[in-house]
Order: sequence, then C-alpha cells, then structure tokens
Amino acid sequence: MDKHEAKTKLANIMEKFIGLACKRLPDDVYAKLKELREREESEIQKVIYDTYFDNLDKALKLNRPACQDTGLLHFYINCGSEFKYIGIVEAALREAVANATVSAPLRQNAVNYFEERNTEDNTGERMPWIHWEIVPDNDELEICVYFAGAGCCLPGRAQVFKPSDGYAAIIKYVFDAVSDLGLNACPPFVVGVGLGHNVENAAVLSKMAYLRPLGTTHAHPKGAKLERDLLEGLNSLGIGAQGLPGKQVAMEVHVESSARHTATIAVGVSVSCYMHRRGFIKFNNDLEFDFSKSYKGVSI
Ligand code: SF4
Repeated sequence: MDKHEAKTKLANIMEKFIGLACKRLPDDVYAKLKELREREESEIQKVIYDTYFDNLDKALKLNRPACQDTGLLHFYINCGSEFKYIGIVEAALREAVANATVSAPLRQNAVNYFEERNTEDNTGERMPWIHWEIVPDNDELEICVYFAGAGCCLPGRAQVFKPSDGYAAIIKYVFDAVSDLGLNACPPFVVGVGLGHNVENAAVLSKMAYLRPLGTTHAHPKGAKLERDLLEGLNSLGIGAQGLPGKQVAMEVHVESSARHTATIAVGVSVSCYMHRRGFIKFNNDLEFDFSKSYKGVSI
C-alpha cells in the first residue's frame, strides 16, 4: 500500500471510529455508571442515572451523538518507532474529522482566533489537537480519540507551587478545582490530576491521567493511595449526578506524575463528565485495526 492509499484507508477507518465513539460510551465507563447507579440511594439520583442510560440507548437507536457537545477532537497517540505510516497520520486525522463532521454528524465547534470564524468542519489551526508519544521498538499505532467538551475537560486548571506550600497544597487545589469546574460539567466525572514541574507538563499529565482506562491505578503505591484518598474525599462532598445531592461526584480519580524540580510542585486538574467519550483504536503496519480495548462486540 502506498502512502496515498494508506492515508485514505486510515482516514476512512477513523471517520467511522469517530462516528462510533461520539455515540457510544466505552465499555468501562458504561459499566462504571451502572455500578454507581446501584450505589446511589436517593430517588432523584436513580432517576438521573436512568435518564442517562435512556439517553445513551436513544443515541444508538437514532444514530446520533450521545451529547450535543461533541467538543473539539483531541487525539492522544502512542506511535511505535517502527510504524511505517507515521508520516500520513496527521493528514488522515484531519480528513477524518472533517468528514465525520458531516457523517457522524459532529457539532461545528472549531473557531479560528483573529478571524473569529467557525471553520465549520472542526479542523483549523492545530486542530484536531494531536499529542504524540513515540514507543521505541514497536510497530503499532494506538490512537485515543477524545471529544473535549466546553463544559467539562476544556476548562482545566494548572498551577505551580513552592515546596514550602507542602503537598497539602495539591489536595486543596484539586478540591477547589473540582468543586469549581464540576459546576459546569455533568457529574459523575473522571478527575485527572497531573503532578509535575511546570504548568505545561502538569496540564498534559492531567489529560493523560483521565484518559487511562478505569480500574487502572498509578504505578507507585503512594500514587495509587493518593488516587483512592482523593476519590473518597471528593465523594464525601455530598454531590451526585448532575450536581444534585448524592454520594458520588467522581467515577475515579487518576494521577499521573513526572519528576519535579527541587523548587517546584506543579499540579494540573482536568475533569471529564459522565459522557466520558474516549475510544482507543490500534493499528498494525497493514492498517488492520482493533478497538476491543474500548468497545467489545461492536463493528464499524
Ligand atoms: S458536560 Fe459532558 S454531558 Fe454535559 S453537556 Fe458537556 S459534554 Fe455533554
């Protein structure tokens, strides 16, 4: 397959995958929402969850996005150093997004700065947003697509503290950010916390954290404990689905970290919403694909 054929093939597959992922929650998120519904006790919480599931069923039956805000398209890519079509990936994703805007359909959300003009196909300057990681000695391409909505993940926060503020500053910052950002999102959400050394890397880590599959934990036992403690604390605020009184404002808290400078502590917070539409798809060097990590028993 030459590069032109590969680009067309990848774009076509990704257009269909975007169409799937904007309508169907990934299996782990759907299962988590079912679990939370059973744990809530108040009648109003059960009604909200039932409405969520009804909405998700109707999205599939009517073949339309499960929430009107299909967001800006973010792609987080793990690309093997031996994946042979690396050069056409970005162009294929732009084409896929533009075509999926019509075929899915997606709401037209991308606006160019300085011209104040909606581009009408969800592409634009550095849009879709693509984050690359190169995986050594690997020949696969894994793409995570995320529909980054304006009420949830786009208004994230990041700040740099001094070590003299102590690690307690991290906890306060996360609680302040979640109780503020959570007002705009539709809970329950996944909270991503990035611990790093500057604003940029803490923000990126917070995004990587909330993309992690549910049920996974930070690699360090203390990081995993921090995740559990933050979840327990946030879920004791008395906020439930849709911000009404309830027992669970968060599905999970995920922490990702990097080493920090001796004189900085940086924290980033990203909050999703119950419509946590993120899908993983993996390609080999023949562009054969598999998305069973996110959706089992489904085809496109
Ligand atoms: S917060 Fe999520 S579910 Fe609510 S409107 Fe935004 S994208 Fe949709």
